[in-house]
Amino acid sequence: MNPWHTEEFGNPSTVYSLGLTAANAVQKARESIAKGIGADTEEIYFTSGGTESDDWAILGTAEAQQKKGRHLITSSIEHHAVLESMDYLEKHGCEITRVPVGSGGLVDPEDVRRAIRPDTILVSIMHANNEVGTVEPIAEIGKITREAGVLFHVDAVQTAGKLPIDVNELGVDLLSMSAHKFYGPKGIGLMYLRKRTRISPLFHGGGQEKGRRAGTHNVPGIVGMAKAVELAVARMADDAVREEQLRDRLWAGLNANIEAIYLNGDMVHRLPGNLNVRLDGIEGESMILMLDMEGICVSSGSACTTGSLEPSHVLLALGIPAEHAHGSLRVTLGRSTTAEDIDHFIKVFPPIVARLREMSPVWCANCVCKQRN
Ligand SMILES: *Cc1c(COP(=O)(O)O)cnc(C)c1O
Repeated sequence: MNPWHTEEFGNPSTVYSLGLTAANAVQKARESIAKGIGADTEEIYFTSGGTESDDWAILGTAEAQQKKGRHLITSSIEHHAVLESMDYLEKHGCEITRVPVGSGGLVDPEDVRRAIRPDTILVSIMHANNEVGTVEPIAEIGKITREAGVLFHVDAVQTAGKLPIDVNELGVDLLSMSAHKFYGPKGIGLMYLRKRTRISPLFHGGGQEKGRRAGTHNVPGIVGMAKAVELAVARMADDAVREEQLRDRLWAGLNANIEAIYLNGDMVHRLPGNLNVRLDGIEGESMILMLDMEGICVSSGSACTTGSLEPSHVLLALGIPAEHAHGSLRVTLGRSTTAEDIDHFIKVFPPIVARLREMSPVWCANCVCKQRN
């Protein structure tokens, strides 16, 4: 990325040769990313990240398709970028159907089929959930939307670079990706937009991205994202196997050494590096602080809602009661996670749980007395 910040400073939208070098780099990146997801080069549009792509897919479709209808379908466990765009449309006269998920966090494609009406203009369902890691049956839903002639948007921010993505196999028309979720730079992402999909721009201004997304290109970001895609595609299978083994080792270790710890979300249809657990009698926030002192970074809920007292909408949608949602922890493994890290976690976490439970009035009332009997 570095030369594109300084030495190769040209703007790809200009005509002089300095700009041309940058334009070529952007084009090369577009080609290589398109190949990575089975798309055509002209179907890739660069954005500032997952949030912008999600907002654009939903708001842009609603505007362009309003003659056909004003009904959109999504799930109850989407990222806030999708949910709040849907809420916004609802305030402005659209109708939104939010299909539920089962206790494992999976959408039933038949629920989507039943929700489709003649005035439905878009179905937006995420590929994998960012909190519990469940991988949704996108290809099955894609068949249903295609039969019904309804556009299908998929937020693939969690799966891009982690699971194979082929936009034709999945049957999607619009797909969001964000580079920083697969070891690329922050503030750059893309939207895959199937040819002949009608959508209004979200950003108005210059003619960049064929007039569909105005604004000077983030050349270093685009080049960096293309490299991140290339690396991810090359090592995806190995990374997945390794992370899954470490994740299973972590869950086995915690489950064997801690009382009243439960798994959130389906364990089979799940991102390899995701573990989400709930513990009776303690708060997620206190676990996070004590693990942080041990050099372990985990979260409760999603990164964006940490710090809020609202229980996670995802865990509530799985049917988990609010008090258990508060006692939940999301542990994400990645390329840099080692077996030693996992063993360290398994060693330090049980005493942390024991200490917190000793101080917890809730645990004392509900559990310890029962255990002592
Ligand atoms: C992180 C994330 C987003 C937002 O992406 P940004 O690039 O951070 O704006 C959207 N959807 C999902 C599922 C995510 O995990």
